[in-house]
Parts: sequence; structure tokens; C-alpha cells
Amino acid sequence: MVHGFEADAKLFASLAEIDAAAAARVKAGGCPHCGGKLDRADYPRKPGGDLGEARDAYAKRASFCCREEGCRRRATPPSLRFLGRKVYVSVLVVVASVVGRSIHLVGRGRRREVEGVPVRTVRRWLDWWSITFALSVFWKEAKGLLSPAVDEASLPGSLLARLGAPSAATLTRLLRLIAPVTTISVEARIAMPV
Ligand SMILES: [Zn+2]
Repeated sequence: MVHGFEADAKLFASLAEIDAAAAARVKAGGCPHCGGKLDRADYPRKPGGDLGEARDAYAKRASFCCREEGCRRRATPPSLRFLGRKVYVSVLVVVASVVGRSIHLVGRGRRREVEGVPVRTVRRWLDWWSITFALSVFWKEAKGLLSPAVDEASLPGSLLARLGAPSAATLTRLLRLIAPVTTISVEARIAMPV
């Protein structure tokens, strides 16, 4: 549970439902390359962080494999639960990054953890937002749709603040917006929140 962001079991469960719906859409659409039928080929996950009752819904990342001989390609739906291969669930990556950006992670009396995540991990995430995310094709396109511009040096907090007050709904909006960065095998369109 993360204080101040309504990041509770209810949010975790609701993100799992959104992911399940996205997975159903990808399966129904068939293989993006050849149109073949898709078989379930989920990735097992052991997410870090306290997920409460939603833990079971986070034990797998949905993925599919094309049934056609000679194609057999992967189709992994976009996810609001998992950001790439990070061990921690996306909610925690976002929240600890926002909190981590706002406090000093080095120097005397420094903290060892941010929202239960080791500081060195949070530092890595902050680099990920500043470099990998900020330079991604997704963000280059998405930021053009945001006016005035979002301060890239303060990601993800600057983007979260643009989408609303810190709440479960705002976190969901942010995760929905950045979901295209969570997959390269399925074309996920930018869903610009209103
Ligand atoms: Zn195929």
C-alpha cells in the first residue's frame, strides 16, 4: 500500500481487469503479422511490493504465440500492471519514482528505501524515465500532444500532475497513457486522456 496515492488492492485489481480486457482484444485480433490464431503463452512474474489480495492477478504477464508454422511470433498485449521487465509493479515504479524525485537520495542521513523499494533501484528508475522513456518513440509522439510541454527532467511526477491530483484514477490514467511502451510486439495506440 502506498500512502497518498490510493495505490491499494482495489487499484491493483482494477489494473488487472484492464489488462485482461486488453489481452482479450489482442487474442481476438489474431496474429498481427499473419492473422493466425494466437495461443496463450504467458510470462510468469514474481512481482515485488505488497499487492494484498491482488497478488494472484499479478503472477502472470499475458502473452500469446502465433499458432502458424513458420510464424510463431509473440504478441504481448500492452500492460498497466507491468512496465517492461521491472520486478516491481508499475504502480510502485511510478509512485516511488515520483517520491524519489522529490527527496535527496544521496548525502548524509540518506534513506535506504523509498516506499519500500531500495534507493539504488529507484535511482535506476529515475534514469529510465529521464533517458529510456524520454527518448522513446512513444514519448516523442505523446509529448507533442501535451501542451504546455511536460517537464522531462521531472518525469514521471510532471506527467502525473498534468493528469490530475494524486489518486488511483490519475495513476490509472498515466499507466493507460504510457501503456504503449510496455510492448513492442503489438501496436498499441496512444490513448490520450481528456
Ligand atoms: Zn503469425
